[in-house]
Amino acid sequence: MAIQRTFSIIKPDATERNLTGAVNAVIEKAGLRIIGQRRIQMTRAQAERFYDVHKERPFFGELVDFMTSGPVVVQVLEGENAVKAYRDVMGATNPADAEEGTIRKLYAKSIGENSVHGSDSEENAAIEIRQFFSEADIAG
Ligand code: GDP
Repeated sequence: MAIQRTFSIIKPDATERNLTGAVNAVIEKAGLRIIGQRRIQMTRAQAERFYDVHKERPFFGELVDFMTSGPVVVQVLEGENAVKAYRDVMGATNPADAEEGTIRKLYAKSIGENSVHGSDSEENAAIEIRQFFSEADIAG
């Protein structure tokens, strides 16, 4: 297995409920290291660019509204097979389908307001990390 990096966002529904530390505790307990982290207010342009693959989906406008509705915490995570390891600990997109102990089962409010984002491939992780971090802001 290889040490990988993945990109994470703690979404506005979680920052609003002061759950940054609680989410980070689940991340760290899963063996992932938070090697870059910044709290930002996303602009519409940033959110639209980030979710460009979903622009034809019916929920795109709602998703951009949500992601710009409050602060988010963007993160770079590192660990063994980090992309899959983080997807596993995030849980299913819809919290109703998420496994016990996953971040979304513990904290998500709905399929839209589901507390966290995690990259779905190593290639997308690199693209997403580059959108929000320079190498100088990451220390592994
Ligand atoms: P993920 O990889 O598990 O985050 O899921 P997707 O890539 O399929 O969707 C991206 C994000 O769009 C999800 O995390 C949700 O925040 C949002 N989303 C997905 N499906 C829906 C939906 O049916 N309604 C709404 N409002 N948002 C959705």
